[in-house]
Amino acid sequence: MTSFLVAHGYDTAAELQGAWWTNGPNLVTLDEATERTYAAVDDSVLEYGDAFTFHLPGQYMSDQEGEATLLFQTDGMEDPLTLRLSGLDLVSVHSFNPVVVPYIVDPEDGSDPEPAPNYDMDDMLEETRDWLPIANDNPVERESVFVPLSEISEAEDAEAYVLGLAASLYNEEGEEDEFYHAVLFDGVNDFPCGGGIAYVGWQVGVSCVEVDPETGSLDEGGDIVAHEFGHNFHLWHTPCGLSSYDPDYPYPNAQMGPEPGWSYPLDRFITNADGYVSYMSYCEPPFVSDFDYREAAEWFLHLTGEWGAEDAQPRADERPGQLYRSIALMGRLDVESGEWELLQSQYSTRPPRRPREGPWELVLFDRIGVELYREPMRLYERQRRDEHEEPRQVLTWFARVPVPPQVPAELRIIDPDGIEAFSSAIEVTPSKQR
Ligand SMILES: [Zn+2]
Repeated sequence: MTSFLVAHGYDTAAELQGAWWTNGPNLVTLDEATERTYAAVDDSVLEYGDAFTFHLPGQYMSDQEGEATLLFQTDGMEDPLTLRLSGLDLVSVHSFNPVVVPYIVDPEDGSDPEPAPNYDMDDMLEETRDWLPIANDNPVERESVFVPLSEISEAEDAEAYVLGLAASLYNEEGEEDEFYHAVLFDGVNDFPCGGGIAYVGWQVGVSCVEVDPETGSLDEGGDIVAHEFGHNFHLWHTPCGLSSYDPDYPYPNAQMGPEPGWSYPLDRFITNADGYVSYMSYCEPPFVSDFDYREAAEWFLHLTGEWGAEDAQPRADERPGQLYRSIALMGRLDVESGEWELLQSQYSTRPPRRPREGPWELVLFDRIGVELYREPMRLYERQRRDEHEEPRQVLTWFARVPVPPQVPAELRIIDPDGIEAFSSAIEVTPSKQR
C-alpha cells in the first residue's frame, strides 16, 4: 500500500469529487479499492492549501503506465489532476513481518497461569503503522511462551531477561525477514512489567503493554511497541529526557524538524508548531520526525536488499532424513568487565540464516582443532526505554550456521584486528522446538 498526499493551492476550498486509478480498461476508484480516502482540511496547519491523501494498494504499483486522476471542484468548476507513477520515484519494498510472542509468567501462588489476554493486533500495531509506514505489514500472532516465576524473579531486569529468551527463540526458529516482538502484559498473573527493550538493528524486542481484560483493546503500550521496533530499524534515542542519544539527530530537544508529517489516526499534518517530538525520545507527545523516518526506511531497504541476495545464502549440508538443518548460536560481551558468555548452542530444524556483514568472525572447530566453519559477525547493542542503562554495556551476537560435517567442539570469536577475543568449548544441544 502506498499513500499519496496531494496538497492543492486553490484560492478557495476545493472539494474532491472523486479519485480513480486507471489500469487498462478498468477504472478503479481509490476510495472503493481501499475505503481509506481522506479529504483532510486544516487551513490553520496547512498554509499552502488543502491536503488529500490516498492509499493505493501495492498491486498497482508495478503499473508504471498507470495514472491516478483526482477530480476537484472549486467555485463550481471541475478541475482534474493527473498523477503518473512514472513521474514518482517509487521503490518496491519487502513486507514488514512482525511476529508477536506473548510471554506469560506463572502466578506467584503456584496456581495455573492465566493465558495471554485476547489482544487486538490492530491496536498493538497502531503507532507502529502510523510512525513507521515503510512497508505493508504481515503480522503473525505466535503461541504464548510460559516463563516460570522462579526463573524470571532471579533476573535483575525482567524485560532484559525476556529479551534474551525471545532472542534465542528467534535465533532458533525465526525467518530472516521476521521481527520477533515479545509482549509482556502488565499485571497478568500479578506480574508487573514496565517499558521495553530492544536490540538496535537486530530483529528482536520486548514491550510491556496493558490490555483491557474485557475488550482485549490495548490501554497502554502501542507507543512502546513502535519505539522498540524503531530500535530494530536501527534508530537510537533522540535528545529529550535522556542523557545518552544519537549525536546525529539534527533538531534540538528531539523536535520534528521543518517537514510536516501526516498523522493517519489524527487525519492531519503534524508540524513542529504542534509541539510533537520524536518517538525515539522519552518526551511527549510522540510522533515520527523526518530524520527518524528516513533513517528507519533506509535501514529497512538496506536489510531487505541483503535478504534479496540469494547467492549469499549459506547452504545446509542437506542429507535425506536429516532432522537438524542448522545450529543456533548466541552470546554476549560485557564491555565493562570484558567477559564473554556463550548463551545458546542449539540445533535447529530451520535452515541456516545468512550472516550479516560485520568486522568480527565466528569460527567453529572440531575435537582435534580442525576448522569446520567460519562466517562474519556483528555485535549488537540493546537499548532500554524506561531505565537509564549505559549504552554499549552489553553487546550481543547471533548466528544460525549450517550443520558442519563434523560435530563442532569449540567456538572462537575473532575481533576486527584478527585477534582471538573469545574461545569456548561447545556442546550443541537438541532443539527445544517440536
Ligand atoms: Zn529505547
